[in-house]
Amino acid sequence: MLEAANDIYSSLTGRFKGDLLRPNDAGYEAARAIWNGMVEKRPGLIARCADLSDIQATVRAASQSKILTAVRCGGHSLAGFSTCEGGLVIDLSHLRSVTANKDTQRARFAGGCLLGSIDTATQKSGLVFPSGVVSHTGASGLILGGGTGWLTRKFGLSCDNVEGFTLVTGDGSIVRAHSKENEDLFWALRGGGGNFGIVTEFEVKLHPLSGVTLVQGLTPEPEIRRLLEFWRDFMADAPLDLKWNIDLRVAPEAEHLPRELRGRPVASSSLVWTGVPEAGRRYLRQATSLCTPESVTSGVVSYLHLQTMADSAFPHGQRYYTKSGYFTHLEDGTIGHLIEALNSIASSGTQIELAYLGGAAAQIDASETAFGDRSAPFILNLLANWSEPAADAAHIGWVRRVFAKLRPAMKPGVYVNFMSGDEQDRVPEAYQHRWERLVAVKTHYDPNNFFRLNQNVRPRNEPCNRGPRQIASG
Ligand SMILES: Cc1cc2nc3c(=O)[nH]c(=O)nc-3n(C[C@H](O)[C@H](O)[C@H](O)COP(=O)(O)OP(=O)(O)OC[C@H]3O[C@@H](n4cnc5c(N)ncnc54)[C@H](O)[C@@H]3O)c2cc1C
Repeated sequence: MLEAANDIYSSLTGRFKGDLLRPNDAGYEAARAIWNGMVEKRPGLIARCADLSDIQATVRAASQSKILTAVRCGGHSLAGFSTCEGGLVIDLSHLRSVTANKDTQRARFAGGCLLGSIDTATQKSGLVFPSGVVSHTGASGLILGGGTGWLTRKFGLSCDNVEGFTLVTGDGSIVRAHSKENEDLFWALRGGGGNFGIVTEFEVKLHPLSGVTLVQGLTPEPEIRRLLEFWRDFMADAPLDLKWNIDLRVAPEAEHLPRELRGRPVASSSLVWTGVPEAGRRYLRQATSLCTPESVTSGVVSYLHLQTMADSAFPHGQRYYTKSGYFTHLEDGTIGHLIEALNSIASSGTQIELAYLGGAAAQIDASETAFGDRSAPFILNLLANWSEPAADAAHIGWVRRVFAKLRPAMKPGVYVNFMSGDEQDRVPEAYQHRWERLVAVKTHYDPNNFFRLNQNVRPRNEPCNRGPRQIASG
């Protein structure tokens, strides 16, 4: 494969405007790293594109040579799909322009944007694009898989707010997809991941919002069962303005926390109210009634504060492993398993993340986009986070054991952006009755499966000389 990488390097040299980085070049070591430190790969060539024509030229050269190719926006794929061993990485990190129009409440942004670049630009006009909760996450990977965050209940998934895509397909062509042009592709790109081409531009709807009420608090162990039962019932009738996430974790040894909670297993509640503050007070008071009063913080914060407050909890280069699923109901037995799992967490960064979807995201018909299940309101994400390679087996083993216990109570389905690199067998499960339509769109736009480093939808009659698909980790 290194030979193919060198051939592509030679064919692009002289006309490529961005950076071409090979293993001994200055800057290569930093450029090859992705967010998940578990995924240590050395690509033969990193093509950091400067513009659309760089992307087209690289795709054309790569698809002719059949080299294994990864596409990278923010490099946050938990599965490690944005790099590969010996192959080519098409890196979009220099393509981060954002244009927001206050009057039309619309924005266009490039395929290499991080969430933070979009938030900063749109907030200048007091507008938001609903996205994820960590500002250093790449927008492309997040949106193409669906995109959930603080505003999902109010404004829908990120992909529900996209009105048009421009992409470069496997033969280097530029294709547009929106509600009146290439409708099947437009459907597939909203949830189907990076299977169809490299998105170079998103056209999206924005919403007015510049601040929210944020309330956070910790519930100690004896009360966690009651809290989860309360949350389960309360969220079923909660207003769309309320988002309440709960992380089961070990409380940090932080001075601002009550001493008796530090280093103890807790349920950490984060509540966001997007409406008028006074109207949210009674909901927020009820929701924090099971938190230790000294642990509760409350106030109106800027949208940019909200969007960056979790950034440092998920540093680049740590080791991460995840498994995820949906529940229609949170049965008492499931709550028992969750508490048991909390008591066996072995790292202070590891958490059991629980989110309640519903709201605007659930009001969109399941057939409207390729995104998986919208009907199961409870999303669980087991995210192990540690630093020592020697502890890999212990942390991965913990996630797998907890998942196996919880799995029988789950609804079939999974959010593709919360999957690891060893779960290819669950990809059809993620899409269920949308699967055949996705395969048809994939077969039309990427018959050779050039874009295969993703939660892969394989085209019909895929040529068998495509080389390894590469399992990322675990
Ligand atoms: C710290 C952290 C926080 C997260 N928070 C959230 C959250 O709040 N909500 C949520 O929904 N998800 C969240 N996720 C999951 C996130 O959506 C996925 O990890 C997503 O893939 C990240 O996108 P990226 O562009 O950074 O990834 P990359 O690793 O760059 O790419 C991911 C996939 O998308 C493909 N891809 C990238 N760019 C393009 C493009 N322009 N065109 C076509 N394909 C492309 C890649 O080939 C790869 O298959 C989070 C992940 C992390 C690590």
